[in-house]
Amino acid sequence: MKPGKVYLVGAGPGDPGLITVKGRRILEQADVVLYDHLAPHSLLALAPAGAERIYVGKKKCDHAVTQAEIVALLLDRARQGKTVVRLKGGDPFLFGRGGEEVEALAEGGVDFEVVPGVTAPLGLAAYAGVPLTHRDHTSVVTFLTGHDPDRIDWSAVSRAATIVVYMGLSTIAEIAARLIAAGRDPSTPAIAVRWATRADQQSVSAPLAGLPAAVAAAGLKPPATIVIGGVVGLRDKLNWFDRLPLRGERIIVTRAASQSGSLAAALQSLGAEVIEFPAIEIRPAADYAALDAAIANLGGYDWLIFTSVNGVRFFLDRLDRSAADLRALRARICAIGPATRDAVERLHLKCDMVPEEYVAESLLAAFSKYELQGKRVLLPRAAVARDLIPAELTRLGARVDVVEAYRTVRPETVPPLPASASWITFTSSSTARNFVEMAALPSGTRIASIGPVTSATVRALGMEVTAEANPYTTEGLVAAILARHAR
Ligand code: SAH
Repeated sequence: MKPGKVYLVGAGPGDPGLITVKGRRILEQADVVLYDHLAPHSLLALAPAGAERIYVGKKKCDHAVTQAEIVALLLDRARQGKTVVRLKGGDPFLFGRGGEEVEALAEGGVDFEVVPGVTAPLGLAAYAGVPLTHRDHTSVVTFLTGHDPDRIDWSAVSRAATIVVYMGLSTIAEIAARLIAAGRDPSTPAIAVRWATRADQQSVSAPLAGLPAAVAAAGLKPPATIVIGGVVGLRDKLNWFDRLPLRGERIIVTRAASQSGSLAAALQSLGAEVIEFPAIEIRPAADYAALDAAIANLGGYDWLIFTSVNGVRFFLDRLDRSAADLRALRARICAIGPATRDAVERLHLKCDMVPEEYVAESLLAAFSKYELQGKRVLLPRAAVARDLIPAELTRLGARVDVVEAYRTVRPETVPPLPASASWITFTSSSTARNFVEMAALPSGTRIASIGPVTSATVRALGMEVTAEANPYTTEGLVAAILARHAR
């Protein structure tokens, strides 16, 4: 049996993009992942599908699993020969009890490695615009835990130009009082930041003497990190994160889990908080007889029309399973929309036609240039789709084979939704229809639609469309939300 190994991996402070490349690579190979409250949970998706994922808690009061139990789990899984990732918020060796965990591994004779992470204050420094050192302000930084103020030498701490306090939110009144008693200027700028680097990052700043009252007034809850020092004053100039155009907007993305990535990432990079609510699931077709027959006769088609990336993906999957390959293709290729075109071009194929507007009507307009009389057209697509294209092409004399390449279904699991949101995006009629069967719109939610067809469905469902993409792409959708926001 190959020996197991435990990797203590720093997950970074909250923005999932802040894990290291090395940490990510190890996570992608994990057999077991033990993660806690602070590590961004979206990172778990990076572990292989079959990996065991164990939540080991610890919100302050409900210790899901004790420290001894965590160590026992690490030892046990490693001794089974597994690759174990202990994913810890921030950096494993800063106030995360990582030191104790690897001590136990060393004593237990289990191999381990430690991968550092971006610790919360460094995330805060970047995303709140508070450099921890600065030539004009400070050359000494002190990191401490505020968990038990009696254990800290406050006269030593008070002399550090920049003071960084982990776990100090519930003791902030005592911390401020002790620092001031030790001689620190009560007017020193100070800030408390909750969930630094996440889209829901929240900060409260005030002079040191006033910070406890300001934190209480804002109702700020852990986890938060406090920074005290002249550098906090630089924030007004350096705070880029709060100035992102969609900062503070909570946007629900209803695409299929496998497809939400690019839209979610685009919105997040503009500062939005994205709630993923897959309202559609892509499944293989119920019956592949028609598609397989078409593939067996691929050389007989004059046109191959793809209306979605999924159409391309499932067509290829069936082609791979057949005796034929892409050399059998002699048809011209048409792709609706740039994403579908990209999927075709990734095969090193070129599209002969990409309708300027990404709706069926404009596809038909583009075909008006071609003689379709007697031509054979293959259209691999979703089972439920609009019938306009085949009917019209048939009217122009073509012999159209519409074959089912995949199905879209309403997901069985309904993910949780927040009580309020600013936007919901619908990227197809099906997502809108499924959504209303799955959940109610959170209060204040406006609707952004990918194009006129989806908008019509939304209106038919009795809802109002506030922003409509043009062009009818996910990029257009993001632009429509931004434009609405800028007004
Ligand atoms: N190992 C972690 C710290 C764990 S101790 C690290 O390196 O960041 C837990 C404390 O870390 C919290 O009470 C809080 O003070 C701080 N913390 C962790 N994540 C944070 C975040 N995203 N924003 C603000 N503070 C955070």
